[in-house]
Amino acid sequence: MSKHKDIEAYRKQLRECVKCGTCRAHCPVFKQVQSEAVVARGKISLAEALMNGEVELDRRLISDISQCLACGRCVRKCPNQVPTDEIILALRRRIGREKGLTLFGRGVSTVLQRPWLMNLLTRLGRMFSWLVFRKVPQSSGLRLRFPSPYISRDRTIPEIAPRAFRQSHPEFIAGDEDKPLVTFFTGCMINHMLPEIGDGVLAALQSLGMNILIPKDQGCCGLPALCAGDGQGAACLADRNLEALTAHKADFIVTACASCHSGLTKHFRDLGPDHAALAGKVMDIHEFLVDQGFDEKLLQLPRQENPQPVGYHVPCHLREPGLKEAPRKLLSALPSIRLVDMKHAGACCGLGGTFSVYHYDISKKLGALKAEGIRDSEAEIVATACPGCIMQLQDTINHAGMSQQVCHVLELVAADLKNADIGQANRKEAKLR
Ligand code: SF4
Ligand code: SF4
Repeated sequence: MSKHKDIEAYRKQLRECVKCGTCRAHCPVFKQVQSEAVVARGKISLAEALMNGEVELDRRLISDISQCLACGRCVRKCPNQVPTDEIILALRRRIGREKGLTLFGRGVSTVLQRPWLMNLLTRLGRMFSWLVFRKVPQSSGLRLRFPSPYISRDRTIPEIAPRAFRQSHPEFIAGDEDKPLVTFFTGCMINHMLPEIGDGVLAALQSLGMNILIPKDQGCCGLPALCAGDGQGAACLADRNLEALTAHKADFIVTACASCHSGLTKHFRDLGPDHAALAGKVMDIHEFLVDQGFDEKLLQLPRQENPQPVGYHVPCHLREPGLKEAPRKLLSALPSIRLVDMKHAGACCGLGGTFSVYHYDISKKLGALKAEGIRDSEAEIVATACPGCIMQLQDTINHAGMSQQVCHVLELVAADLKNADIGQANRKEAKLR
């Protein structure tokens, strides 16, 4: 089985931190907590002290290490590009190995590694949803009826889809003979909760005549397990995905989830040459579509009167690899919407994998900042490129008592393709030329 790097492998990078403190101005958690232990510089000092045997892996240190969104802002602004986000995940893996996972971490990892269990739980969740959840009037989301140790009762969660996306579609959808074969990595949220995003991906790819593969054996990207400190579980998922995604020789592998993109690229590259080769084929769907000239083609669709004002939230996991412009290009090209500015559009939504489970109070404060930016803008809809951000932003908007809906860029793309009569059903007859 492949293996992620041990914290010992980062000794050289740890020494490259010159303790300048630049990261203090950019860390969203530090801005809320104002404790040196949660900023990159503090965590690097903790890692060094731990490796030198000066401190123990005690409750305090474990709590400090859990206070990170893995947003990567500190890395981008660091003069020496110290990879603090990776160092923190390596520390969490060590904590997981030596102290065991939390109950939540263990639960998440167990379920994500067993697709049959995930399918069973989502079916049961759907069946007993009326008993366990109540509907949130402001959105189509749900809230727990009963107290739970990890999920707050005032948190909005998307409904479970009646049918998983991958069960609703064939594994292979033929396109034009001369067009590439594109593998679609759905990720868990699109598969089980937000299949309409997957439908949007298919509509866009089919309108271009692409051949599409949706491997049935693909699994979770592994990022939730990594954030929870389960290195072994994440590596196991990576090996399974390597097998599922390389069983057929696809030209491209696309994701419509910013976090899955990070899981299959950044966190795959260290796992060996085969994983690195796969990572090299993975593209964010927006980047792929813009590369194919799709935005230019959308611009040819007839413009609509009174386009709806839409704001765009930049997911951290697209901004860090420099992919923040492609979703904006697609949105700007859509005939039924008008892309509007939103203050704090690039600020983290506050989800951060397991962060918002353990530190929901800080997560909500980060959300309040986003809500302020949305409220002060003209946006009636907030579009983004990550299902996790969609869940978090809708929760934020509901808490602020606002009415905006959050959706994925590809849902808006699919709606305009449908309006223009260019969709899945009539792909053969009407394609974007
Ligand atoms: S910005 Fe980089 S070098 Fe400066 S203190 Fe933070 S991690 Fe260290
Ligand atoms: S990754 Fe983000 S949350 Fe974590 S230390 Fe760096 S800036 Fe702070």
